[in-house]
Amino acid sequence: MLRSVFLAAADSSRLGRLVSSASLSKNVARRYVAGDDVDAVLVAARELADDGLTITVDHLAPETATADDARATRDEYVTLLGRLRAAGLTPTAEVSVKLSALGQRLDEKVAFEHALAVCAAAAEAGTSMTLDAEDHTTTDSTLEILGDLRKEYPSTGAVLQAYLRRTEGDCRELSRAGSRVRLCKGAYAEPESVAFTDALDIDKSFVRCLNILMSGEGYPMVATHDPRLIAIAEDRARWFDRSADEYEFQMLYGMRTEEQARLAASGNIVRIYLPYGRQWYGYLMRRLAERPSTAVQFARRIPQK
Ligand code: FAD
Repeated sequence: MLRSVFLAAADSSRLGRLVSSASLSKNVARRYVAGDDVDAVLVAARELADDGLTITVDHLAPETATADDARATRDEYVTLLGRLRAAGLTPTAEVSVKLSALGQRLDEKVAFEHALAVCAAAAEAGTSMTLDAEDHTTTDSTLEILGDLRKEYPSTGAVLQAYLRRTEGDCRELSRAGSRVRLCKGAYAEPESVAFTDALDIDKSFVRCLNILMSGEGYPMVATHDPRLIAIAEDRARWFDRSADEYEFQMLYGMRTEEQARLAASGNIVRIYLPYGRQWYGYLMRRLAERPSTAVQFARRIPQK
């Protein structure tokens, strides 16, 4: 119930303006977001790298981008990648990009061109880009653009969401040599017609997808905080004879930091998804939807107007 309230709130621009202006919200956001600008994200990235963690940096941008927003997002990533390189943080750090922020809903071709420019900047900086997964109406378009980007930049990463009924098939398609695939549960409110909505069904689908990716020839990136799924991933890596550099774990900044450290200390590659930017509201709502205890504290303090 709370999950759907916060997911609906993630899409409300009016509530977004109200919540973003409250200083308490900013304090809650600080737990999950590095800060407003590139300077802040470089500081956080350095701290994570010093702790032996790898990083994927996400610039939080408006999800319904105008053509100007889309160009600004492309330019922001190009600047970010140059700064990461100058700071000696590549290839430890890569970037994660949402095609919606590059104008996918306005013009797929333009979004592709912008994404290509980000891939070029990533390659120049000695690192890669991963395309985040968004709601199911964008999946076909995103995977098509991914295929085109990979023709020139084969290390471009994909994200697949275990809650979508189609995802086992997508895992089979993408578990080829050289293919980097992040597997996560999925963070959007999706209808039953396209997605599993029961938590156990989502977990079972995650394990089926994990089996395909771990037994395949690609590079699986296991993105979850779920202790049971992490244990199963460790088991599958052993079962399929993968060495520690043939897969990685991924977690969100500020979530289960002790587990991040434990996995890294036991020799795993652990990549932290590190968001920054002023548009943190939608991101924060999705994180609160996943953590009911934090969500209740937060909801009590939103100003009543
Ligand atoms: P959950 O189902 O949230 O939690 C399962 C169990 O894990 C909980 O019951 C609890 O026991 C434990 N747990 C979880 N969090 C904590 C915590 N903070 N402290 C203690 N225990 C905890 N979604 C997309 O749709 N598209 C993307 O591109 C995308 N990229 C992602 C990238 C990364 C690196 C990660 C980690 C997630 C990403 N997600 C993305 C979000 C993802 O789809 C899930 O919504 C989110 O990760 C929550 O699912 P979970 O697997 O972590 O476990």
